[in-house]
Amino acid sequence: MTYDPNNIFAKVLRGELPCHNIYEDDDTLAFLDIMPRSEGHALVITKEKATDLFDVSPQALVKLMAVVQKLSPEIKEAVGADGVLIAQFNGAAAGQTVFHLHVHIIPRKEGTELKPHAGIMADQAILATTAEKIRKKLQTA
Ligand code: 5GP
Repeated sequence: MTYDPNNIFAKVLRGELPCHNIYEDDDTLAFLDIMPRSEGHALVITKEKATDLFDVSPQALVKLMAVVQKLSPEIKEAVGADGVLIAQFNGAAAGQTVFHLHVHIIPRKEGTELKPHAGIMADQAILATTAEKIRKKLQTA
């Protein structure tokens, strides 16, 4: 699939769409999923124009996954979760809905079911509060 420069995450990267940002560096951006499957559900995206795992350079992939590794335990602690599900979908048949490479960080709490994938829009005020909590945790990491 050809990379579409007007996909939602490309617009987020260009600042054309807002997001609840939790982390940014030269190669990646992380923000909260607008339809979270659990509290603290975050997305880490590469700044490279890549549709999926098979389209990204190995260098950018390493940087992306290093950020996933760094953020996941901090997000887990910030929301008081017990574990973290890391998910990444390639192609519509696999469940991908936004065609700009991203990795899901989904905190899990014992006994709490996940909400549906890309199903229920969260309250913006709640997302803002969660993002603030995570940013504060990252500042002390
Ligand atoms: P995929 O299905 O491609 O792996 O995941 C795309 C994710 O992006 C979904 O979990 C969906 O909830 C989320 N999403 C869709 N549109 C937006 C948006 O405009 N902003 C944010 N922050 N997340 C979005």
